[in-house]
Amino acid sequence: MAEYTKIDAYLESHLDESIAELSRLVAQPSVGAQNLGMRECAELTASLLHRRGFSAEVMPTEGAPVVFAERKGKSDKTLLFYCHYDVQPAEPLELWETPPFEPSLRDGKLFGRGVSDDKGHITSRLFAIDALLADHPPGEDGELPCSIKFIIEGEEETSSVHLHEFILENKARLAADACIWEFGGVDHREAPIQYLGLRGICYVELSVETAATDVHSGLGGSIFPNAAWRLVWALNSLKGPDERIRLPGHYDKVRPPTIRDRELMAALPETSEVYKQQYGVESFIKGLTGGVDLRVEEIFTPTCTICGLTSGYQGPGSKTVQPAKASAKVDFRLVPDQDPKDVLKNLRTHLDNEGFQDVQITYLGGESPARTDPDHPFIRLVVESAGEIYGVPMQIMPMSGGSGPNYPFVHDLGLPVATAGLGYPDGRGHAPNENIRLDLYLKHAKHMARVIREFA
Ligand SMILES: [Zn+2]
Repeated sequence: MAEYTKIDAYLESHLDESIAELSRLVAQPSVGAQNLGMRECAELTASLLHRRGFSAEVMPTEGAPVVFAERKGKSDKTLLFYCHYDVQPAEPLELWETPPFEPSLRDGKLFGRGVSDDKGHITSRLFAIDALLADHPPGEDGELPCSIKFIIEGEEETSSVHLHEFILENKARLAADACIWEFGGVDHREAPIQYLGLRGICYVELSVETAATDVHSGLGGSIFPNAAWRLVWALNSLKGPDERIRLPGHYDKVRPPTIRDRELMAALPETSEVYKQQYGVESFIKGLTGGVDLRVEEIFTPTCTICGLTSGYQGPGSKTVQPAKASAKVDFRLVPDQDPKDVLKNLRTHLDNEGFQDVQITYLGGESPARTDPDHPFIRLVVESAGEIYGVPMQIMPMSGGSGPNYPFVHDLGLPVATAGLGYPDGRGHAPNENIRLDLYLKHAKHMARVIREFA
């Protein structure tokens, strides 16, 4: 469209500056799990917004501060951007080709911890705003087409523990008409994807302690309880080889996918072979082979995953010892309308009923699932405005298998939440050599400029 020629030209000719800004933001570590550089990164993020004429505040929570920013625009509409400035730990450091907090440009890609998740999304959206502000008649000041607010939290990678409370306490300030989510991107065919919701999660640690100290297995093996066995048996009771989760009432509130959901899933490309290659697996569970059934199962099914197990001796050679302690990290992915608090309660009931009163549960965080209507006008706007930039239609995924704090945005602020972003399948989020492609960074900025203007 001709009306975007100037904006696109601005973005193309100022890309280096925006990448330099992103590099500065990435060079400031902000590892939530290690409480490293959080305040400094929040301040730096706020300064980027100040520079664009936003009133930006670093607001305290019980955990990492939230950056809230706002700037009025021409129309009476308000668009809210949700992003996060915290990043995952960079370890294992030896697997990075260049240091994680020294952003490095090679082969049209920028490498560094947080370039994609989520700092690149912050700066590319600011870049789109720069282009809109620069697009004004000579002699006049630039104005935003609509009011824009940013909520940039610092606990996304650690389950957004304090975000829901923050949103409830600041509901009036966060009021908006629509929301753009923190992430998004293209799939392996370069088609942008619209994720219309997120699964919820209930993350726990299960632990057992059977003795004050480890015991010689020649003694303990026959007369004392073994913590590792207690834990394994408890875990074994959570779900059977049929993959059915055995907590009481676990499936009672599950809303099955609608006909529209299945229709949207059917329009998506086949991924079974891509998955097999990418992850080196030969087959799927539950007799799944591919097609719509695989996709539906992938995102519309509650899961119970053992994420890690710890007990006893695991060093070289043998050590005949009976462990006194054992623990496991377990996550439950939830679908609408399951509730993490119910799961926690039912997990306790289940373990007690099964005779595992000795298994302790530590709640490590949770989020409720939430979805946006695929036919909401704002979703249509975001989808349609992507088409001309990416050259292929944006694909609609009714929900993502991952989790995030979208519940308060959808249910407390009452917003349609659309996803759009600069991610791509080899972006290595959370892993060593996290990277973004500059061409997709530019495309995302162009898309955001259109979304803001069309929305206004
Ligand atoms: Zn992340």
